Amino acid sequence: MKFLLANWKMNLGAAGARELAAALGPAAGAGLEVAVFPPFTALEGVAGTLAGGIALGVQDLYPAEKGAFTGEIGFQQIEEFSVRFVLVGHSERRHLLGEGEPLLRKKLEFVLARSLTPVLCVGETLAEREAGRAEAVVDGQLASALEGLPAGPLLIAYEPVWAIGTGLVATTEQAAAMHDFIRARLAGLRAGAIPVLYGGSVSPATIAALIAGARCDGFLVGGASLKADEFLALARACRAAGAENRR
Ligand code: PGA
Repeated sequence: MKFLLANWKMNLGAAGARELAAALGPAAGAGLEVAVFPPFTALEGVAGTLAGGIALGVQDLYPAEKGAFTGEIGFQQIEEFSVRFVLVGHSERRHLLGEGEPLLRKKLEFVLARSLTPVLCVGETLAEREAGRAEAVVDGQLASALEGLPAGPLLIAYEPVWAIGTGLVATTEQAAAMHDFIRARLAGLRAGAIPVLYGGSVSPATIAALIAGARCDGFLVGGASLKADEFLALARACRAAGAENRR
């Protein structure tokens, strides 16, 4: 496993976020890159607390430097904190906040132009999967996000919407099949090897099977990233799998 990303979503105050960041010191290393995505209000404190080579990400970014965009956060507000990753198109933003493909595309272009690394989230709803449309939905999301997008670093996170925060995890077969599909599709859309991560109710109880069978390069974790002991257990499992692969 190469990546373990912690999406803290709309949780934790500034002090709680600093405390959690401080506890994650031993998470990264041995070929595993770890990044945390705190709420914006905790960004400064977490940036000043993180150690052990853990990177910083933001959960969203408005595609402008600064200006009259009430309530939004632009590049000027994050520039001084050495942010490396930006989540783009998380399903909670697509489905709860109504973010559509044109806005996501603008965000991707903006993020790449600022030399940040976007983590593009894709995934189908339960109704779409039950209608046999899971691949078609993900295919459409990848195409509208990536066709003709300027070159630059990129991560993909496959997060079936029905598995996020629900305790339902995609079976390793479902996840592996979609990861293979995404890699095949990416080959026609973008040069270079693009890491494909899995997200959706990843926990210490579910990670071993996913590592063994889901054919992904890492994980995007929500709920289980809010407890230091659980997240450190996930990191240990990822590092052990990496060491195994290198043997
Ligand atoms: P979860 O969230 O791990 O709580 O399911 C994952 C995500 O939304 O990134």
